[in-house]
Amino acid sequence: MQQGLFGDESVAQNCIFCKIIAGKAPAHILYQDEQVLSFLDISPVSAGHSLIIPTNHHDNIFSLSGEEITAVALHAKRLAPVVKRVTKSPGLAIHQLNGRAAGQTVFHYHMHLIPCQHDTPKQLHGRRAASQSALAELAVEIRQALTKA
Ligand code: 5GP
Ligand code: ZN
Repeated sequence: MQQGLFGDESVAQNCIFCKIIAGKAPAHILYQDEQVLSFLDISPVSAGHSLIIPTNHHDNIFSLSGEEITAVALHAKRLAPVVKRVTKSPGLAIHQLNGRAAGQTVFHYHMHLIPCQHDTPKQLHGRRAASQSALAELAVEIRQALTKA
């Protein structure tokens, strides 16, 4: 499994996103390579709400290397138009929170991609978990579109 920052394995063991990276917690994964992982948010603001994370554990932006944040940004550049197209959304919001004071709730750096219809609530967090079958179906569609992007 991926080690936490500075090899602190206990951080990784207690982090839900590190567990997803290690395959020890379930997620509807969209893309994975050595540097980044993207998957559907369990409690989406709108259908297609996706998260992109670095595979190394960092609580927030303050410890991320230039190379890691570049890998996240490059994946966002590729994934964003695919998610927008598959969900037939006229807009797509990107959010990223650092620290409890900023509203961050999971302390493994992540970028939110939130497809927006004109009436999509302009909020950062969804109110309830999506159905697993709906997430699974959408993940298949996005993964297929991503391979052609
Ligand atoms: P934050 O507030 O830290 O920016 O956002 C954390 C996000 O992670 C929330 O949108 C929340 O729904 C999502 N999330 C929390 N736990 C899980 C999980 O176990 N699986 C997935 N797929 N998303 C999660
Ligand atoms: Zn982590």
